[in-house]
Amino acid sequence: MAPARTPDIAAKRLPKAQYAANFTDLHPPLNAHEALVESDRCYFCYDAPCMKACPTSIDIPLFIREIQAGNPKSAAKTIFNQNILGGMCARVCPTETLCEEACVREHAEGKPVKIGLLQRYATDQAMADKHPYNRAKSSGKKVAVVGAGPAGLACAHRLSMHGHDVTVFEARKKSGGLNEYGIAAYKSVDDFAAKEVDFVLSIGGIKIENGMALGKKLKLANLQRDYDAVFLGLGLSGVNALGDKNEDADGIEDAVDYISDLRQAKDPSRLKVGRNVVVIGGGMTAIDIAVQSKLLGAENVTVIYRRGAEHMKASPFEQELAQTKGVNIKHWVAPKKVLVKSGSVIGLKCENTSTGEKFEIRADMIFKAIGQSYIDVTGGTIALDQGRIKVDAEKRTSVKGIWAGGDCIAGGKDLTVASVDDGRRAAESIHSFLTA
Ligand SMILES: Cc1cc2nc3c(=O)[nH]c(=O)nc-3n(C[C@H](O)[C@H](O)[C@H](O)COP(=O)(O)OP(=O)(O)OC[C@H]3O[C@@H](n4cnc5c(N)ncnc54)[C@H](O)[C@@H]3O)c2cc1C
Ligand code: SF4
Repeated sequence: MAPARTPDIAAKRLPKAQYAANFTDLHPPLNAHEALVESDRCYFCYDAPCMKACPTSIDIPLFIREIQAGNPKSAAKTIFNQNILGGMCARVCPTETLCEEACVREHAEGKPVKIGLLQRYATDQAMADKHPYNRAKSSGKKVAVVGAGPAGLACAHRLSMHGHDVTVFEARKKSGGLNEYGIAAYKSVDDFAAKEVDFVLSIGGIKIENGMALGKKLKLANLQRDYDAVFLGLGLSGVNALGDKNEDADGIEDAVDYISDLRQAKDPSRLKVGRNVVVIGGGMTAIDIAVQSKLLGAENVTVIYRRGAEHMKASPFEQELAQTKGVNIKHWVAPKKVLVKSGSVIGLKCENTSTGEKFEIRADMIFKAIGQSYIDVTGGTIALDQGRIKVDAEKRTSVKGIWAGGDCIAGGKDLTVASVDDGRRAAESIHSFLTA
């Protein structure tokens, strides 16, 4: 490798108009006619496999039939009954490995019913209207929810439906969790995450206090004292380290932080990106940062992953998406050493994990996308399992009166839809506890 003499990291790599075109909706919505035609493809299967594959167990054949019958708002209610963030899930769920993979039409002809797009069609219509639920009569009970991500919001909404008063404590300025700060920009356009938070809150009975971090100003013991129950939807705030002595060099970035900056950027053209970018990792975050680097104008983007394509957490669809955007994915490759000149990254020394061959890749920027971890903010009072909060089937923690869900719990699937499911299940368990 002949390293570049100076690292090439710059903003405005593309013509202005190109940015808007690059960050448009990945899957544009269906119009009414398209939705009718697509709903007509559903066989309305008995014991539908798509429904079993949905982590929130939405009655998929029923909502598709409601669309077919010309009643998208009823369809949306069927979806929201199980998943109040059905709008975001319609945009971000890896349907190709969930409901659409299970669809009988996928098996028969390799062309599943477009369940995700139909869900989006229905929920978009309903969200433009008044909130579809009324609160039950006040129970006089108060619940604290920590974290306003998908798990916390789903929990808060279900509790409010049952008539409990909910206060959500959220560390960041904006609510929504990774829906607001993490999901790829082309999956959630037009400030949808914020609009969905407003939709959830419009049921009433939920107050969000932003800038309130558990473990700092806020103490768990005080929440236990002041509320009838507590739900923790803390997500994962730690990032795994490479363990390289040059880890702090200029040009090495944590992918989740960079994506967060991109999601909050009013003008993406102002974000600096390397000409040559290397991404280390094999999950959704790795693919998202690789694709978004390309869309920001990086010339060469290479993802390295230490095992084979079939082992990657990113689905085959996502891997293909990256490749169609010009990302080069190298399997069976592990990082060995970050190469630095005058404090800045100039490349990455790598090793082929099956042949042992060593080689170098030129890099102006290296993104770490090697996973996140749970950081305990409860003062060690709650039992953990494999580094995350231990819960039972009802999402009860080891401490009476405290529930948890989403990415922060052991065995979590690290998907938006699974976090929503946890939040709703925990809320039902809290409701039984409060009304026992
Ligand atoms: C880059 C990236 C892309 C992803 N893309 C997808 C995708 O396309 N599809 C998909 O299904 N999933 C995706 N995921 C996974 C998905 O975003 C998560 O599984 C989901 O957001 C988890 O929800 P949660 O509520 O548990 O946590 P989070 O969304 O992380 O929300 C946790 C909330 O708690 C707050 N918080 C943390 N600590 C404290 C504290 N001490 N006090 C108060 N508040 C606190 C945080 O600020 C945050 O708002 C992606 C994840 C990442 C990182
Ligand atoms: S499996 Fe496919 S065809 Fe059958 S109900 Fe589900 S979406 Fe319809």
